[in-house]
Amino acid sequence: MPLRHTMDFLLYDWLHVEALCQRERFADHARETFDAVLDTCERIAREKYAPFNRTVDIQEPRFDGEKVILPQATHDAHKAYAESGMLSAAQDYDVGGMQLPYTVEAAANAFFACASVSIGSGMLTTGNANLLMAHGTEMQKQVFARNEFSGRWSGTMCLSEPQAGSSLSDVATRAVPDGSDFEADPLGPRYRLKGNKMWISAGEHELTENIIHLVLAKIPGPDGKLTPGTKGISLFIVPKKLVDAQGQLTGVRNDVALAGLNHKCGWRGTTNTLLNFGEGKFPVQGQAGAVGYLVGRPGDGLRCMFHMMNEARIGVGMAATMLGLAGYYASLDYARNRPQGRPPGAKDPAQPQVRIIEHADVKRMLLAQKAYGEGALALELYCARLVDEQHTGESAAANEARLLLEVLTPIAKSWPSEWCLEANSLAIQIHGGYGYTRDFPVEQYWRDNRLNMIHEGAHGIQAMDLLGRKVLMENGRGLQLLGARMQDTIQRASGHAALAEHAAALGQALAQVGQATQAAWADGDAARALANAVPYLQAFGHTVLAWIWLEVALTALRVDAMQSVASTAGRMGAMTYFYRYELPKIGAWLAVVRTCDATCASFEEDLF
Ligand SMILES: Cc1cc2nc3c(=O)[nH]c(=O)nc-3n(C[C@H](O)[C@H](O)[C@H](O)COP(=O)(O)OP(=O)(O)OC[C@H]3O[C@@H](n4cnc5c(N)ncnc54)[C@H](O)[C@@H]3O)c2cc1C
Repeated sequence: MPLRHTMDFLLYDWLHVEALCQRERFADHARETFDAVLDTCERIAREKYAPFNRTVDIQEPRFDGEKVILPQATHDAHKAYAESGMLSAAQDYDVGGMQLPYTVEAAANAFFACASVSIGSGMLTTGNANLLMAHGTEMQKQVFARNEFSGRWSGTMCLSEPQAGSSLSDVATRAVPDGSDFEADPLGPRYRLKGNKMWISAGEHELTENIIHLVLAKIPGPDGKLTPGTKGISLFIVPKKLVDAQGQLTGVRNDVALAGLNHKCGWRGTTNTLLNFGEGKFPVQGQAGAVGYLVGRPGDGLRCMFHMMNEARIGVGMAATMLGLAGYYASLDYARNRPQGRPPGAKDPAQPQVRIIEHADVKRMLLAQKAYGEGALALELYCARLVDEQHTGESAAANEARLLLEVLTPIAKSWPSEWCLEANSLAIQIHGGYGYTRDFPVEQYWRDNRLNMIHEGAHGIQAMDLLGRKVLMENGRGLQLLGARMQDTIQRASGHAALAEHAAALGQALAQVGQATQAAWADGDAARALANAVPYLQAFGHTVLAWIWLEVALTALRVDAMQSVASTAGRMGAMTYFYRYELPKIGAWLAVVRTCDATCASFEEDLF
C-alpha cells in the first residue's frame, strides 16, 4: 500500500490523533489541518527531495578551501522545507510555530526521509532550537532559537570527539571564562572554547547565513583540571559567525574552523565534519578560542542535551524505517515487473517466464520488508503519540507515557536501525545483480541506512541502556507498564478467531522476556548480565513489534472485519509472517541471556 494510505490508517484508525484536538494546546486543529500538513510535506518531498536523492549521493559535499559546496538541489530543498514552517511545527504560535502534535510532525517529516533521507538536516536544526526553548535564557531563545526556526540559521549538535564517541564522559573540549565581565554578556555567560569535535553533521555549509553549534565542553576547576565523568560537562552555544543581542551578524567570524569533511558510505547529502574550536584560525579580538555562551548551569550539559533525546531517537528510528520502506516499495515494483524462471514443477522452457513476485521466496523477502517497515512505522508513531501524552496529558497519563518512553526509546531507535537495514539488504537481493549496481536505488538505501546502528548511541550501547538501566529503573515499573499494555492487547485479541493463536504466542514471548530479565540480573553482576545485551535487545524488540502488529491487526479487523479490502488482508498477512517467521527467533536470543552465556565475554583476545 502507498505510504500515505498506511500513514492515515495508523494515525487516524489506530492512534486516533484527531482526538488530541480536544486538548487546549491543539484546539485550533482538526483532521483537516493535519491532512493539510501531511499533503504539503508529501508534495515538497515528491517535488524537491525524491528527484535529487541520487544527485546528492553522487555530488558529495566538497570543500574548495573556503566554502563547502553542495548541489543546488540541496539549497532548493532546504528553502522549501524552511518555508513550509516544519522547522517550528510543534512550537507555540507566539514563536511562529503551528502547535502541531509531535505525532503529526513526525509523520509529516517521514515523507522527506522516504524521499531523500540526507538532503535535509532540518531535524538537527529543530532539535537544537527546541533544546534552547527548553533550557536557554529568554535572550538565547529570541536570538538563536527563533532564527533557527525561521530557517535563517541552522543548528548542529557537537557531542562527539575523536577520542570520545560512545564514551562522552571523556569529552576533552575546554571552556574557560572570557574576561572578567564574562557573566555580563546579554547572550549568556561568555566562555572561550578549545577542542576538536568529530562527526558533526551539517557542521559547515552555505545553506544558511549562520550555523549555531551546540557544543559539550568542560569548564576546568580552580586547579585547571577537568572534572572526570559526565558531571563536569556543560553546554555552550557557539555560533559560526558572532551575532549581537538583536540577532544581527557583527561581521566577526568566530574561531570555529573546518578541519575536514568526512567521506561517508552513505547519507552524503548532509555534510559531516571535523571541527576545530579555538585553534586560532579565526582569532576573535586577537585571541584564539571560540566564543561560546553557556546554556543552563555549569555541569548540566548532558542533562540539557538529553532533554531532546526521545525525539532525536524517534527521529533516527523513523529515518531507518523510511529507508526500509523506500527499499520495500522499490523492490515490490521491481518484483512485479521482472520475468525470471518458472514455478517449481513447471520447467517447460517453452512456457513464458513468470514474474519473480510469483516465487515463494521472493514473496518471503517482500513480506519480511513489509513486516519490518510497516511494523516499525507503527512503533515510531506509537512512541511519538506517547511524547504528546507526556507533554499534554493529565499528570498520571503523562507520567505513564514518560516511563513507557524510557523503556521503548532504545527499541524505537535500534529496532528499525537493525531490521529495516535488513529490509534494504533483502531489497537488493530481490533486484539480483541489478540491485548491486548504482542503476537502481536500493544499494543507496542500504548505504544510507547503515549509519543508523552507529550514531545516536551505537547498537550495543542502546542494548546496555535497555537491559542495564531502562528495564530496572523505578523498580521495573516501566517494564511492568509495558507488560500491562501488552496483556490488554492479548486479552482483546484472544477473542478473535484470526488472532487468538498470535495472542497466545505474544503472551509466551512476554513471559520469556520477563524470565530472561530476572535471570540475567539474578546475581546482580552487571558484567555477566550485560554481556548479552544485544541478543536481549533483539528479543525485546521483536516482542514489542509482535505486540504492535497485534494492535495493528486488531484495528484492521475493526475497520474491515471481512478483510474485504486488500490493505486489511495485506496487514493480516504481514502480521502472520511476523508471528510465524520472526517471533520464534527470540528463543535463541534469550537462551544466552538467561544463562548469562560467557562465550563472547570470556573469549581470550589471543584466540581471535
Ligand atoms: C555520519 C555520522 C554522523 C554523525 N553525526 C554526529 C553529530 O551530528 N554530532 C555528534 O556529536 N556526533 C555525531 N556522530 C558521532 C556518533 O554519534 C558516533 O560515531 C557514535 O557515538 C560512536 O562513537 P565512535 O564513532 O567514536 O565509536 P566508538 O565509541 O569507538 O565505538 C565503536 C564501536 O565499539 C562498540 N563500543 C564502544 N563502546 C562500547 C561499550 N562501552 N560497550 C560495548 N560496546 C562498545 C560499539 O559497537 C561501537 O559501534 C555521527 C557519526 C556519523 C558516522
